[in-house]
Amino acid sequence: MIEEFAKKYSIEKYRIDQFNQKYYKEYLSSWDELTTWPKDLREKLKKEIAFSKLIHQESNISKNRKTEKVLFKTEKGNFVESVLMKVKGRNTVCVSCMSGCPVGCIFCATGQMGLNESLDSQQIIDQILYFGRKLRTKNEKISNIVYMGMGEPLLNLESVSYSIETILDKDRLAFGKRRATLSTSGYVQNLKTFLDKNYGVKIAISLHAPNQKLRDMLMPKVSKSNTLKDLFKVLDEYTQNSNKRITYEYVLLKGVNDSVGNAIELANLLKGRLALVNLINYNEVGCLPFKKSDNIKTFQMILLNNGINCTIRKSQGGDIKGACGQLAVDSNKC
Ligand code: SAH
Ligand code: SF4
Repeated sequence: MIEEFAKKYSIEKYRIDQFNQKYYKEYLSSWDELTTWPKDLREKLKKEIAFSKLIHQESNISKNRKTEKVLFKTEKGNFVESVLMKVKGRNTVCVSCMSGCPVGCIFCATGQMGLNESLDSQQIIDQILYFGRKLRTKNEKISNIVYMGMGEPLLNLESVSYSIETILDKDRLAFGKRRATLSTSGYVQNLKTFLDKNYGVKIAISLHAPNQKLRDMLMPKVSKSNTLKDLFKVLDEYTQNSNKRITYEYVLLKGVNDSVGNAIELANLLKGRLALVNLINYNEVGCLPFKKSDNIKTFQMILLNNGINCTIRKSQGGDIKGACGQLAVDSNKC
């Protein structure tokens, strides 16, 4: 965003440093606060560049005040949701990389919307800056960023990659690489391209099934053309080279993928791999037939007893439809 502006007016490097300091590090809340720039330059900026490309529409805060869901509108008029969660004293921001999602996993509310629009990197960063600015007023900071909102990050690779570079860059947001997580449904080719960039951010794979057949049923679009065999080939190579553990997300759907047999099969699939399973109990979605599992503890025990690291994700924000997979902007389909 600022790059083009800087080029147009031949702005010197020290001015960009001043910009980065105020915009990314001090989370300024309007261009007027860019007081390290001379007034005429600031006025040009004000005229030519919107302070945020995403326009805030509304905020919803959960009853326990630990989750805040924010609705934004893009210039094209599409809606995007982002979530701030307080977990164990940490402030985690869950960003969207699309309005809707083209992958259409059959249990996911966002997937029922289809794709409205892929966001550019600035629109992704706008979500982070929005919460950063809010937290700053309370003398708090963002601790973690997760790409787990609307959309499939690996189908918007260029914008997502550039946003990650902005997050990690020590002159801009300067986040530690292990404080950012990219969650993907597993597009193998793009995953390989992403991993080859070596950002070192955490990787979470939406697995959701212990075998190809069940995964094909739950996530047909991605699963059929990105088989478990091909997916693990890329992931195994990555863990061998980096020694970094992969998180596998597994959403438990009652009577679908939550049996003792499914847990044993999952344990066998992951045995010998550097893996952490993150079990997520299903957040029910009004228009979809799936139900929460009542087998989550047993499922976890089986994995643990088979030597697989396994945690249960504490769901929050369900009362404001801000939990995983519930972001759908109350679309008329859901
Ligand atoms: N598209 C990416 C990231 C966004 S979804 C992906 O699929 O990984 C973030 C996580 O929430 C994914 O693991 C997704 O499968 C899961 N999820 C989707 N719908 C859900 C629901 N209704 N309840 C719980 N988790 C859900
Ligand atoms: Fe898209 Fe992820 Fe939902 Fe699948 S689970 S439809 S990839 S957002």
